[in-house]
Amino acid sequence: MYDTFKELGIAPEILKAVEDMGFEEPSPIQKAAIPIALTGKDLIGQAQTGTGKTAAFGIPILERIDTSKPGPQAVVLSPTRELAIQSAEEINHLAQYLPIHALPIYGGQDIERQFKALRKHPNIIVATPGRLMDHMKRGTIDLSHVQVLVLDEGDEMVDMGFIDDIRTILAGIPEERQTMFFSATMPEPIRQLAETFLKDPELVKIKAATVTIDLIEQEYIELPDRQKFDALCRLLDMQDPELAIVFVRTKRRCDEVTEALKKRGYMAEGLHGDLSQQKRDTVVRQFKEGTIDILVATDVAARGLDISGVTHVYNFDMPQDPEIYVHRVGRTGRAGKTGLAVTFVISREMGQLRDIERVIRRRIKRRSVPTLSEVIE
Ligand code: ADP
Ligand code: MG
Repeated sequence: MYDTFKELGIAPEILKAVEDMGFEEPSPIQKAAIPIALTGKDLIGQAQTGTGKTAAFGIPILERIDTSKPGPQAVVLSPTRELAIQSAEEINHLAQYLPIHALPIYGGQDIERQFKALRKHPNIIVATPGRLMDHMKRGTIDLSHVQVLVLDEGDEMVDMGFIDDIRTILAGIPEERQTMFFSATMPEPIRQLAETFLKDPELVKIKAATVTIDLIEQEYIELPDRQKFDALCRLLDMQDPELAIVFVRTKRRCDEVTEALKKRGYMAEGLHGDLSQQKRDTVVRQFKEGTIDILVATDVAARGLDISGVTHVYNFDMPQDPEIYVHRVGRTGRAGKTGLAVTFVISREMGQLRDIERVIRRRIKRRSVPTLSEVIE
């Protein structure tokens, strides 16, 4: 029905921006959600990570904003700081030819600076729930003109225990509004909960296509934990990835592996939830720029991050469940490019590997640790 952005009937300024951004046609969730969102109806949108949900709500928000009115007119709630920054960035790209500005608001950022930024009249706020509530309590944000509210990564927000915060925030936003709930997964309890926030919502669901990781070469190595680090170094030396993400299970492992890699001269940095906000921003930026080429990350820290050009994913520690495996491996080989994912498996974890194979409906190739001569070649 709507095969092009033009057919979606969006403003010429936005058409120009999507063209600049290299979007050739709307993604399936954008094709399905944008026309509904433009009517002002409430919406529940479900589609996998990386399918363009930000523009699916970002474009309708831009269409709704009346620049002659004061104060923020749209609020997007994000589960993490990184995601708030990233979504605000994407919205600002979409708004580059419009006099509209989105401001990210998140904990860990200097509050005085936020007061200043808020006084510059952002039209859209992209916030983590805690920090937004903080501003609401202090009276440093005026939400009385908000017409659109988006709950992004709704499943994550519920998992992370933001439900009460969300309720508090909703109570402080005019009831006459459009509410949209976006999520990669939609377990029944979350859908039911979402419906308590929404009025007669339309449900838009884009079938999860495991195809996203179909193109990715996937291998595993069975080895004891103490051999993992050397194995990782040999793989890095042999495969020489342009950009690699090494997934670990805990913050502590993240620090250990990062330090050990640095000691051996690799350009690596760690990303986990205990690092200062400034540090995390720097690491993500360096990785995007390619100043560092190895990112050691926990699942939570890497969630929702959109980094293109990742050629290799190493599961240093086995993912907790098949869904996490798909999320991790999906970090590489985006946009039609192929990638490689190698998973380290301790003998007692072989059953989990088989579970993953069942879910992704394919065999993961067994390989061994590269020998020294393979590394040198
Ligand atoms: P999600 O929120 O569903 O995980 P994002 O909104 O973060 O996905 O989008 C993932 C990536 O795809 C981003 O880099 C974004 O700029 C890009 N993208 C979004 N829509 C399109 C499109 N129609 N064509 C090409 N790339 C797109
Ligand atoms: Mg998203």
